[in-house]
Amino acid sequence: MYKRRVLNDERAAGITRPCPECGRPQTSLPELYFDEKGLGDWLLGFYCFYDRETFAAWAPEYQPLIDEITQGVDVSTLPLWPEGHMKHEGEL
Ligand SMILES: [Zn+2]
Repeated sequence: MYKRRVLNDERAAGITRPCPECGRPQTSLPELYFDEKGLGDWLLGFYCFYDRETFAAWAPEYQPLIDEITQGVDVSTLPLWPEGHMKHEGEL
């Protein structure tokens, strides 16, 4: 089954962007996700309090922060996060 690894780091929290569902601001969680079967990219976790949904998103401006946080991290040691828990988006 397709799974995602999750990495918790406080540095990932506090980034805001418009929610793709409702357009209200949503804020990033202290969580990064790694798609095992995807493109090998890390995604940032976001939560919309209005839709009560978690999103996983990537954008070029997140990459320096992602690089900083994931440097030296062994993905295989991270806990699994089941698919279907959140919405997945690519580049906005
Ligand atoms: Zn929303």
